[in-house]
Amino acid sequence: DPHGRHESGSLLSPQETEKQLYGLAGPTVELPDRTFVDLFRERARGCPDAIAVEHGTVRWTYRELERRVNRIAHALVEAGVGTEDVVAVVMDRTPEWIAAALGVFTAGGVYLPVRPDFPVERVVAQLERSGCAVALTDPGSEALVRASSARLAAPLTALPVTRVLARGGHAEPPRVKVTPGQAAYIYFTSGSTGSPKGALCEHAGFLNHLYAKIEDTGMTAGGEDVATQIASQCFDISLWQFAAPLLIGGSVRIVDTRTQLDVAAFVEEIVEGRVTVMQVVPSYLEVLLTHLEQHPRPLGALRSVSVTGEALTYELVQRWFAAYPDVQLVNAYGATETSDDPMHEVLHGVPERDFVSVGRALRNVNTYVLDENLALVPLGTPGEIAFSGVCVGRGYINDEERTREAFVPDPFRPGSRMYRTGDFGRWLPEDRLEFLGRRDAQVKIRGFRIEIGEIENKLLAMEGVREAAVVTEGDTSEQRVLVAFFSGSEQVTPERVRDFLGTVLPDYMVPTHVHRVDRLPLTENGKIDKKALARPAAETA
Ligand code: ADP
Repeated sequence: DPHGRHESGSLLSPQETEKQLYGLAGPTVELPDRTFVDLFRERARGCPDAIAVEHGTVRWTYRELERRVNRIAHALVEAGVGTEDVVAVVMDRTPEWIAAALGVFTAGGVYLPVRPDFPVERVVAQLERSGCAVALTDPGSEALVRASSARLAAPLTALPVTRVLARGGHAEPPRVKVTPGQAAYIYFTSGSTGSPKGALCEHAGFLNHLYAKIEDTGMTAGGEDVATQIASQCFDISLWQFAAPLLIGGSVRIVDTRTQLDVAAFVEEIVEGRVTVMQVVPSYLEVLLTHLEQHPRPLGALRSVSVTGEALTYELVQRWFAAYPDVQLVNAYGATETSDDPMHEVLHGVPERDFVSVGRALRNVNTYVLDENLALVPLGTPGEIAFSGVCVGRGYINDEERTREAFVPDPFRPGSRMYRTGDFGRWLPEDRLEFLGRRDAQVKIRGFRIEIGEIENKLLAMEGVREAAVVTEGDTSEQRVLVAFFSGSEQVTPERVRDFLGTVLPDYMVPTHVHRVDRLPLTENGKIDKKALARPAAETA
């Protein structure tokens, strides 16, 4: 065969195929016939007086947390929530929010986090799409939930969590059986066609991921670990940030967004809070490290930093170990659709090669690198990264078409689902995977996953806008910003565009710079020339 294909039509020899199929799968570990719900309860009974959640001056023990979880779960059951019914948790990041999420799991429902500062339109779309009928609220979200409910065909049942908790009673959980195959949560991610997609994951994948993180970050049962909860509640990494410590009897320390913006205060929080495990996106690690390089200080009990969401650069790793040689970095890689991170690389020092790999497949996960025909490619050849195994979610809620595109039958393991990430990567020696970028126009801004097409669609929907294009500017993830260009009627000013986008998109998707142009530049084959746009953006910004 001139292309070097083997008899089977594959580019790989049978031995290589064997290795790629089985050698690059994570270890098989039997999962218990239990869920996070059972294990949290067991933990709460085992160490009732240990601190479970801390937030500013508020501290809850496991007993106090469990009691609240049970009350919320009962209220949900009374409100008619049954197995796999979706419950929106529209709350700020507080201890009550964690109790609410655990309450939803305990009632057998599906946790759908919604940020209280999201535009009504987006909230309505998510509630409608997921068929959600019940919402847990806090004082800051009641108005949003009321406004959203008014726009739904059937009004929502809104349960204010403070009122539920004030009622008291219910030391025991409701009698609900939650099984590993059951749906656990939905996170909406940006969708290129203009509407967000609700990725639905199951309890087995959720628990498998927690165990992998706990093992490899060296978190130990016994309660000495303190993990920071810093990610936004609409970002799936926020889930393990509280769920993992609660499985091992450790504590969750919620750090407000305000504190994160003030790096000195954040460092204080790590040291004073005796934080041992922290997870950040690379852009924040960069900000944090730059501050620490200027104001060096030991980081107290900190021993593991997980970095996820975007590519971790070699330079950042070098700088980190130069400053903190004893604090490990974990480069965690994955997508919301694959129960967070199915791969990671644990680094105890600067890697010998001058790039950072995303590591190996974790337990019960198979990683493939594929060509366009979904055939395995040889070691070292770039291809699309795909996953199968327990990590793969069920699909996008009530969205068969988009589910079918991304969740396909696993060609190598009949009967399993495979998720196509849209990421490029290649296998390196020692079964390490290198991340090589995106197949499409998906970008990350401060870790938030954004489809450029979603912003462009919203912009094109604005009256008077004729053409629209959005590009990113800035070389490092810390500097990266969104820049929009549009043409259209004179009445549409860049200010009005920004205001409009602010009412339909979350803040992190609103372009930092908006430019009005007479016409958008086109390439030879008539497509919008984004490369040409990126240049003037840099000059006018
Ligand atoms: P996560 O919560 O795991 O970041 P998202 O669904 O928000 O998942 O985003 C998934 C995408 O983010 C991946 O498909 C990939 O493009 C990018 N990504 C996630 N982790 C990494 C990493 N460690 N290195 C490079 N890119 C990453």
